Amino acid sequence: MRVFNFSAGPAVLPEAVLKKAQEELLEYKDSGMSVMEMSHRSKVFEDILNKAESDLRDLLQIPDNYKVLFLQGGGHTQFAMVPLNLMINREADYILTGQWAKKASEEASKYGKVNIVASSKDENFSYIPDLSDLDISEKADYVYICQNNTIYGTTIKNLPNTKGKDLVSDVSSMLLSEPMDVSKYGILWGGAQKNVGPSGVTIVIIRDDLIRDDVLEGTPTMLKYKTHADNNSLYNTPPCFNIYICGLVFEWLKDLGGLDVMKKMNEEKAAILYNFLDESNLFKGTVRKEDRSLMNIPFITGDEELDKKFISEADNKGFKNLKGHRSVGGMRASLYNAMPKEGVEALVKFMKEFEMENR
Ligand SMILES: *Cc1c(COP(=O)(O)O)cnc(C)c1O
Repeated sequence: MRVFNFSAGPAVLPEAVLKKAQEELLEYKDSGMSVMEMSHRSKVFEDILNKAESDLRDLLQIPDNYKVLFLQGGGHTQFAMVPLNLMINREADYILTGQWAKKASEEASKYGKVNIVASSKDENFSYIPDLSDLDISEKADYVYICQNNTIYGTTIKNLPNTKGKDLVSDVSSMLLSEPMDVSKYGILWGGAQKNVGPSGVTIVIIRDDLIRDDVLEGTPTMLKYKTHADNNSLYNTPPCFNIYICGLVFEWLKDLGGLDVMKKMNEEKAAILYNFLDESNLFKGTVRKEDRSLMNIPFITGDEELDKKFISEADNKGFKNLKGHRSVGGMRASLYNAMPKEGVEALVKFMKEFEMENR
C-alpha cells in the first residue's frame, strides 16, 4: 500500500509517472530495451533528452538566451560550480536565509571574498529579511539566494534588488511548483529530488553570457558549465534514467495544465494546513506568515515529548516522514507537486483528532 509521504527529499513522485515508468521499464517504446540499458548516444535517448528539455522550456517559458543543463553531483556541487564559473573578481554577495545558503556561502569562500549582505540567523531563519535595498558590493560577481528554504519553510517572494548584479538562485525545493520569470535570473538551479524527479540529476538554467571559458584557474573540466552547454549535457554519460523520469514529470505537469494550474493546486493544499495551524490550540507554525513556503511547512506543539508522540502515531497511520529537521525540531510536512490534496486533508483530520485527545 502506498502511504502519504511528506518527505522533504527524496520525495513523493506522481503515481501516474511511476506507473508509466513501470510499463516502460522492460522495453522503452519499441527499442527492445530499458532506458537504463541504452547508449546515451543513441537516437532514442537523444529524443528523450531533447523532449525533456523542450517540455521544461515550455513549462517555465525559458527564453532562448538561456541554456538548460542536466547535471550530476546534486546541490552541493552547484555550491562550488557557481563560484568556480562566476567569481571572476573573486567576490560575491550571499543572502543567508538558512543552512543551504550558509553551506553555499562557505563553499564560495574557498574561492574568494564572500559578503553576507542580509541574514535571518538572529531568529533561527524563521523569516525573510528585507531585500529591497541591500548594500550590494561594487565588485560582486553575483548575488546568491536560496529561494525556498526547505528546512525552515520560508520562501523569498520578492526577489532582492541586486542593483544590476546577476542573481543566482537555488530553487531546489520549489522548481516547477509555480511559474517563474527566468529572465530575472543569471542562473537558477535545482536538485531534482525535491519537487521534480529522482535524486541524481540537477537542473541548471543559465543565461548564455554566463557560460564562460575564463573560469577560475584549475576548475575541473566537469565543473565548467561550458563543458556541458557545448555538449547538450552529453559530455560524459548523463544520469539517463533520471532524466527520463524528469521528462515524464514534465509531461505530467503539461497534461495537468502547466505551472499556473500547479500553483493554484499548491496554494490550495498549503492553505488547508496553514489554516488549521492558525486556528489550532495545540499546533503552530514556526514561520512569519508573509514568508511561508507553499512546499515545506514546519510546525510544533511546543512540547518535545508530544511532538515525538505525534510523529510516531502519525507514522502508524501511514503519514510518513513528518519529523522536522533537527535545527527546527518538531514536524515538517513537505507538500510538493505530487502530494495529492487528499493527503493534506487526511493529515489535518488526523491532527484534529490528535489535538482532541491530547489537550
Ligand atoms: C536538499 C537541498 C540542497 C542539497 O542538495 P543535495 O542534492 O543533497 O546536494 C540544496 N539546496 C536546497 C534548497 C535543498 O533543499
